[in-house]
Amino acid sequence: MTVMIDGRQTAAKIRSELAKKAEVLKNQGITPCLAVILVGDDPASQVYVRNKKRAAEKIGIETKDLHLSAQTAQSELLELIDSLNDDPSVHAILVQMPLPKHLDENEVINAISPKKDADGLHPKNLGHLFMNEPQALPCTPRGIMVLLAEYDIGVAGKNVVIIGRSNLVGRPLAAMMINVDATVTVAHSKTKNLPEIAKNADILVVATGRAEMVDQSYVKKGATVIDVGINRLPDNHLVGDVDQASVTGVAAYLTPVPGGVGPMTIAMLMQQTLELAEKSK
Ligand code: NDP
Repeated sequence: MTVMIDGRQTAAKIRSELAKKAEVLKNQGITPCLAVILVGDDPASQVYVRNKKRAAEKIGIETKDLHLSAQTAQSELLELIDSLNDDPSVHAILVQMPLPKHLDENEVINAISPKKDADGLHPKNLGHLFMNEPQALPCTPRGIMVLLAEYDIGVAGKNVVIIGRSNLVGRPLAAMMINVDATVTVAHSKTKNLPEIAKNADILVVATGRAEMVDQSYVKKGATVIDVGINRLPDNHLVGDVDQASVTGVAAYLTPVPGGVGPMTIAMLMQQTLELAEKSK
């Protein structure tokens, strides 16, 4: 039997706790505020931004909506970030990725004050994570760690295989797993014999952006499979990077898509905003 890990329910529980924290902060005279910058009109990014703003409002986090045209110059975007860095009413800054091609994403991430780094992707914060002195953390990997804890899935001493080495997911997740004593393998598109390596995993995390790539030939019986992928098929259907039908019955635990890692990413963004607001005191 495969237990489906319910990210929606876990995220809802976290959000209700966060709403109480937001109330406490407000009573102390701090209204937590997340500035959300969206450049251009990418429909998927618009949906992500709308969902994040909705989640914030429900918790009692104020949002500052900054929608810039697709033609915005790098210098203009950097100036906006600078002004938000200096604005004491803003506690966290999120720049929705991907940015239009003419903009330099790394320079933009670097420009955000590490103290207002909602997504936890600033090199300084990634450095703290790698030194096991975590400050602001990347939201998707953090959400995965919280989901595992919620389902009492131990990590210490386990073989963890992460397929995908992006700065957003794979690399920071590897650091988080090492920090809690897992034995970690990070695989990518150049990895040889991937199914064989993946089959060693007690916990297999898949973040490739390749729809339903991982089937049961990658999964050890009784493993935990975390599917990070979000892929929209031509028929508008959402699927993960794992072939859920194939893996069901082999894995002991599996995250569904949608309703697994996705809601946790947003919950962690909210948690981080409140933590940054609290630290601003
Ligand atoms: P990237 O495209 O940045 O990275 C993909 C990684 O997967 C790369 O390291 C790449 O290897 C590797 N890869 C690609 N194809 C293969 C393959 N055939 N075999 C092995 N490795 C492969 O993606 P992201 O990390 O940003 O996102 C991954 C997925 O997670 C996407 O579907 C995205 O939509 C989703 N996502 C979901 C979130 C959520 O909240 N649920 C949040 C963020 C992302 P190489 O480095 O060699 O190119």
